Amino acid sequence: MNIPNEVISQIVSQVMANLQPQQEKKSTPLIPGVFSNVNQAVEAAKYAYLQLRTLSMAKREELIQAMREAAFANARELAEIAVRETGMGRVSDKILKNQLAARKTPGTEDLKTESWTGDDGLTLVEMGAYGVIGAITPTTNPSETIICNGIGMIAAGNSVVFSPHPTAKETSFLTLKILNEAIVAAGGPANLLTMVAEPSIEAANEMMRHPGIIMLVATGGPGVVKAVLSSGKKAIGAGAGNPPVIVDETADIPKAARDIIAGSSFDNNLPCIAEKECIVVGSVADELITHMRRSGAYLIKGKEIDDLLKVVMTEKEEKIAEGCTVKPKKSYGINKAWVGKDAQVILKAIGIDVPSDVRAVICEVEEDHPFVVEELMMPILPIVQVKNIDAAIALGVKVEHGNRHTAIMHSKNVDNLTRFARAVQTTIFVKNGPSYAGIGVGGEGYNTFTIAGPTGEGLTSARTFTRQRRCVLVDGFKIV
Ligand code: NAD
Repeated sequence: MNIPNEVISQIVSQVMANLQPQQEKKSTPLIPGVFSNVNQAVEAAKYAYLQLRTLSMAKREELIQAMREAAFANARELAEIAVRETGMGRVSDKILKNQLAARKTPGTEDLKTESWTGDDGLTLVEMGAYGVIGAITPTTNPSETIICNGIGMIAAGNSVVFSPHPTAKETSFLTLKILNEAIVAAGGPANLLTMVAEPSIEAANEMMRHPGIIMLVATGGPGVVKAVLSSGKKAIGAGAGNPPVIVDETADIPKAARDIIAGSSFDNNLPCIAEKECIVVGSVADELITHMRRSGAYLIKGKEIDDLLKVVMTEKEEKIAEGCTVKPKKSYGINKAWVGKDAQVILKAIGIDVPSDVRAVICEVEEDHPFVVEELMMPILPIVQVKNIDAAIALGVKVEHGNRHTAIMHSKNVDNLTRFARAVQTTIFVKNGPSYAGIGVGGEGYNTFTIAGPTGEGLTSARTFTRQRRCVLVDGFKIV
């Protein structure tokens, strides 16, 4: 039976009118995608999702292309507002990160259909949308994560309610405005990406509990990953890292030094994948440090290290029970005021003036120093000397803390490289390159800013945000 196109259009409009939530009809976004409360943000995203469902895959890809172009064209403006608002990172590096998210996040081509044919007919498994996804994003990559999650989640057929870090709300507003306007200009629905005007932990929790949110994706520290995993909903957690970089005696030392400083100082060490501590086999330690200094690092020693510790970390005393006695134990946390600051600014705080081309502070410390143990997210790279590769691997595994996030190694010994990769069990393992090669900068493969170690999806992409749906046709469509 042939149903005329006009009749199909009429039915679709009627269905859409019935599905349109009453709330959505009343609420107008303050900025494209920005609503005054969680319910409005979810309802508007739900309506947008239903509209997206009526579009073809080719049209969906057109929307993705429009998002890419708009994000790329506005990469500088987004980088500038992010640095101004959060007080973290480097504009030049954030421009690259925005461009990377715009260009190298997979789109609809990432969705693959599986099929089986045989005596009993044809079976298909297609990647379908979830619906409205709740995505919680970090202050360290505010626009990058929205661009990346936005492209991947819409390519998979979903709409998204973002819950950004409150300290990055203006950056998030602008990112949403740019992407939503591009989608609408390309003929797509309004409000595929939404958020609330006043993001907060309370608003994030309300969003997580909202029945309209079908799936949660958290990119951030351990607290938010735990929160989404306790939500009772399908959840993806992309959590903290503390990536070690090992250098053994077979490495190309000048190149290793250049790569490590480039990776660990990129966006002032904000990326979760950035080298956070360097473990070097003693016989090549001095040579490595010499080349790091030539590559833009400033070496501090002795009292300078103690002074810096007092500035960038906070000290707490905990009571630890040992048998029948309770003993005090010192522990350290990061002083957030120094996260993502320039090396020049950090050194100034301990009375050292350096030119602005100094990108990183390096220092030799013991393996249990707080700079090694904690995820600093500052351009401060502690260096620990060890006697051999066995000790390097053991320490690398220990200080990665089982995050299973990222590790890096510089070596020409295939056995050593293989041993560390197998021992550390990280989602990303970069050999002989800067850490960012692992997310598609100077390394093969696509980009993501949501690396799901705790829940195992790895480097997320459009297919991560889909449901597998099987359709079986019995006794037909077989041509042999
Ligand atoms: P954060 O954990 O403080 O905040 C991340 C987001 O979660 C923010 O939007 C915040 O408002 C929200 N949030 C925090 N605790 C919450 C709770 N209990 N309930 C609901 N929402 C909560 O982290 P940050 O400082 O914004 O970002 C840095 C951290 O994120 C680092 O630990 C870094 O390693 C990690 N990170 C991981 C990835 C990854 O892909 N694995 C990417 C970027 C950053």
